[in-house]
Amino acid sequence: MKVLLNGRAGNVGRTLAPALEAAGHALVDALDDADAMVDFTTPTAVAGNVRAAVAAGVPSVVGTTGWEPEEFRNAPVTVFYAPNFAIGAVLMMRFAAEAAPYFERAEIVELHHAGKLDAPSGTAKLTAERLPGDVPIHSVRLPGLNAHQEVILGGAGQTLTIRHDALSREAYTPGVLLALERLSTLPPGLVVGLDALL
Ligand code: NAP
Repeated sequence: MKVLLNGRAGNVGRTLAPALEAAGHALVDALDDADAMVDFTTPTAVAGNVRAAVAAGVPSVVGTTGWEPEEFRNAPVTVFYAPNFAIGAVLMMRFAAEAAPYFERAEIVELHHAGKLDAPSGTAKLTAERLPGDVPIHSVRLPGLNAHQEVILGGAGQTLTIRHDALSREAYTPGVLLALERLSTLPPGLVVGLDALL
């Protein structure tokens, strides 16, 4: 596919750009030349980029977090948004949801590198939405971290901790490639979560 990658010079973009090309996609510089738009930018830039893609009739694959995608619910082209493209993180959410009915309460601890602009993380918010009750989220931002999350479930006399660690940005590449591969099979409008593709 011909892909416009917004955020190409960023932490994720620098890993993703060569991986997209290695997978046979061509990176282009403008929407009018693109089959798809991929966005790993900032919470303030992303909605404008998606609006432009929708206006140009170009479907999007969005990884940027810290924004509200609801305005694209009924967009005439697909806007696929996954707050986490790492398969392990998707499984963490799934396993936590499966375990939750057997415990009294759950809390989430998400830990990220100091440069992350949004808190709580998009993954933590999506995890909390998929668990019963009101699930508190604790956010840690420190140098030395990349992207990590624990879901701690507590019951009488025991806890269960489900943890995912994204150790490098390569973790996101297979999910983005899968989303591009499936993009034409998805309905128009907003589709949220890598789960929808698995
Ligand atoms: P980053 O290093 O800050 O990179 C963001 C890039 O976006 C920069 O190169 C920036 O360029 C560029 N940019 C800013 N405004 C733009 C615009 N209007 N159009 C095009 N490009 C623009 O951030 P990152 O660590 O790569 O993360 C990017 C986003 O992805 C964050 O929201 C992060 O939370 C999210 N993320 C998601 C996943 C996932 O799996 N969904 C995984 C990791 C990260 P300048 O520096 O020149 O402004």
